[in-house]
Amino acid sequence: MVSAIVLAGGKGKRMGCSQSKQYIDLDGKPIIYYTLKQFIKNKSIDNIVLVIPEEEKDYCKDEVLDRYGLVVDKIVFGGNERQESVYKALIEMENTNIVLIHDGARPFVSERIINDAIKYATLYKAAAPGVVPKDTIKIRGEDNFSIKTLDRNNLIAIQTPQAFDFKLICKCHKEVKEKNIMVTDDTSVVEALGNKVYIYEGDYTNIKITTPEDLALAEYLVKK
Ligand code: C5P
Repeated sequence: MVSAIVLAGGKGKRMGCSQSKQYIDLDGKPIIYYTLKQFIKNKSIDNIVLVIPEEEKDYCKDEVLDRYGLVVDKIVFGGNERQESVYKALIEMENTNIVLIHDGARPFVSERIINDAIKYATLYKAAAPGVVPKDTIKIRGEDNFSIKTLDRNNLIAIQTPQAFDFKLICKCHKEVKEKNIMVTDDTSVVEALGNKVYIYEGDYTNIKITTPEDLALAEYLVKK
């Protein structure tokens, strides 16, 4: 059994608009429509949990799910941090073998990336797609001067879906919460407890829509 958690529990403050970013219009439909569609149509996904802020319950049901005929198995209300939203979804889940955790703000995830997530998580218990950064990456000191240039060929920008053995990710999330460790993604949750994550080829088009500049690229990608 393979389950997916689609995270749309954030407000998207960096987008700088009043509306939650998952509902921003992309070629006539909200961002979250495209994301959910990719998981709903994938034949290997048996169960989908959607995470949203509690106050968006009616809007999401009426204006997204019902309006576009999208069916999810469960809706969970998110927490203040992404990490908390994931945890709340995990504890609400039925027993499953593999769970994929995906940012609702990444609408261009491909079928290949989802299928590879399932394949590699089945083999290695933890897997995520990533791409080599296009820019040179440096560490900057507090005085704004560079401290070090990192070797680009060893660096990977990690994307989602991040896929895990269900028991492993539940155990790690619980422990990280108990120990008050703060992370920005789920690969860091399993790594914090000594587990390795298999990194496979992501896609430069699998962008996370975060700031207004990303929207211009998203408009182009959706038309393509
Ligand atoms: O903030 P960030 O861009 O890392 O968020 C990534 C994803 O996590 C977004 O799809 C956002 O809706 C979700 N999120 C969440 N609950 C939060 C914060 C973010 O589900 N409290």
